[in-house]
Amino acid sequence: MDDCVFCRIVRGEIPSTRVWEDDLTVAFMDIGSVNPGHLLVATKAHAENLYGLDDGTAAAVMRSVARVGRAVQSALSPDGLSLYQANGAAAGQTVFHFHVHVLPRWKGDAMDLVWPVRNPGRQELEETAARIRAAL
Ligand code: AMP
Ligand code: ZN
Repeated sequence: MDDCVFCRIVRGEIPSTRVWEDDLTVAFMDIGSVNPGHLLVATKAHAENLYGLDDGTAAAVMRSVARVGRAVQSALSPDGLSLYQANGAAAGQTVFHFHVHVLPRWKGDAMDLVWPVRNPGRQELEETAARIRAAL
């Protein structure tokens, strides 16, 4: 992916502030940080989103997320830590190369996520779960 911004970061063609890397993943500071310590864990190989990850890469991503998350907690002592990961423009994805946001949180910070609880009935939960199980 010649012009993918995160592929270019992986190849070292544009600057990034890296904190961690292994064979399959790289973690670097988010240039549009919401809070201090906001970083991204991205795959080294280009995959547009979650649906393009093989099992080994998916596992490696979570291993790196946990590792840098523990380091952020130890280094910065935030009040909390949010993980955020978007697939598709409708979900808010703006860079179409798979990545997970590791976002330190402090009480009263300006970060917000609208979560409109709908409380569907058990029947709807069962019907939706059956459709998902059938696709596994
Ligand atoms: P998303 O909306 O989940 O696709 O998030 C993309 C993130 O990538 C945003 O938070 C951007 O600030 C961040 N970003 C875009 N370009 C760069 C870059 N060159 N270096 C570091 N972070 C970047
Ligand atoms: Zn890419």
